Amino acid sequence: MADLGAAMSGEADMCMLGGGNPAHIPEVEARLCESVRALAADSDALGRVIGDYDGPQGNAAFLQSLATLLSSEFGWELGPENIALTQGSQNSFFALFNIFGGTFPDGSHRRILLPLTPEYIGYSDAGLQPDFFVSTPPVIEMLDDRLFKYHIDFDAIEALDDLGAICVSRPTNPTGNVLTDVEVTRLDAFAKSRGIPLILDNAYGTPFPNIIFTDAEPLWNENTVVCMSLSKFGLPGTRTGIVIAREELIRVISGFNAVCSLAPTSMGAAIAQPLVESGEILTLSRDVIRPYYEKKALDALALLQSELKGLDCYLHTPEGALFLWLWCKGLPITSEELYERLKARGVLVVSGHYYFPGRADQTDHQRECIRITFSQPTDQVERGLVMIAEEVRRAYEEGGQ
Ligand code: PLP
Repeated sequence: MADLGAAMSGEADMCMLGGGNPAHIPEVEARLCESVRALAADSDALGRVIGDYDGPQGNAAFLQSLATLLSSEFGWELGPENIALTQGSQNSFFALFNIFGGTFPDGSHRRILLPLTPEYIGYSDAGLQPDFFVSTPPVIEMLDDRLFKYHIDFDAIEALDDLGAICVSRPTNPTGNVLTDVEVTRLDAFAKSRGIPLILDNAYGTPFPNIIFTDAEPLWNENTVVCMSLSKFGLPGTRTGIVIAREELIRVISGFNAVCSLAPTSMGAAIAQPLVESGEILTLSRDVIRPYYEKKALDALALLQSELKGLDCYLHTPEGALFLWLWCKGLPITSEELYERLKARGVLVVSGHYYFPGRADQTDHQRECIRITFSQPTDQVERGLVMIAEEVRRAYEEGGQ
């Protein structure tokens, strides 16, 4: 994380293919700046945003507009009482995991099931107690053109006990996987059969920021907790997470906000409010953000596939999010060593071994993958991809020395 932070702050001249920062998309940024300028020009409104605490559930007008938008877009039967804001969805997961996982007053211990690893690195240390996450190896479907896709091994997860909740990112960070509708429906049924919630991390999903290149159906019901965020829409600095859940859970999240920070931050909701109310957040996501990242994903994929020709390397089929997930089968060095070699050449990626929280087994696969972010400027991404392929080729050619 320190390497990634230094690269983003410009302290080092690096090809930043490592973090989760969204791109600065000119059309989106222009619209957000317009909203900031309108707020700054209205001293009463600005005075309220920066001079008053919102309630612990978050800005009431934003909650109402978002409930209306989600009901009309998806037909979800929810109101503002089903939504709470947090200081970013990272903060939402910290609260949710520790509500549903850990040791309870009756002495029982429940773990958070991550039904498919590789899974988001930010979950790994979010549990306050040991033995917090559990996961099992995925099924790997090999596709044409040296692509592959991970699937949930339902037989393996259905054999697990002592579960407190299920959580999955869709699209998935780090792989760009999007669980199929069949998988989500089956997870939903499994969660209900165990009396535990299904937490869907929608940080990249629909309807905003909509960095999803397939036609996956969104899901919400009283047993599902959908976590969203304004970060990947272009507002990561405002730290605005959104939890959509049944009313009692929203009251618990509001209580968490009150205890930890009195109230969630107001600025993100204030900037995004006019876009939610007008529905522009949907059109920008659909017509600008999705095509922007889809093109970046396909360009990066084509370049890397061509640079890696002849090597025993495979890429996860990019279905969403900001990442390519590269699997170098039988690589003679570990992904951590590859990370170090790339860093020495000025390219930052993330070693794949971090993305397997909750896994009891150690497999070669866990040390053969890296995550590559393609959201940064194209020249930087292209230079980085070429150097990644060169280092991977060198590692295969030289063996483990
Ligand atoms: N979930 C996923 C899958 C992410 O990739 C990220 C950030 O990169 C987050 C959650 C946290 O986002 P934020 O706290 O900025 O809302």
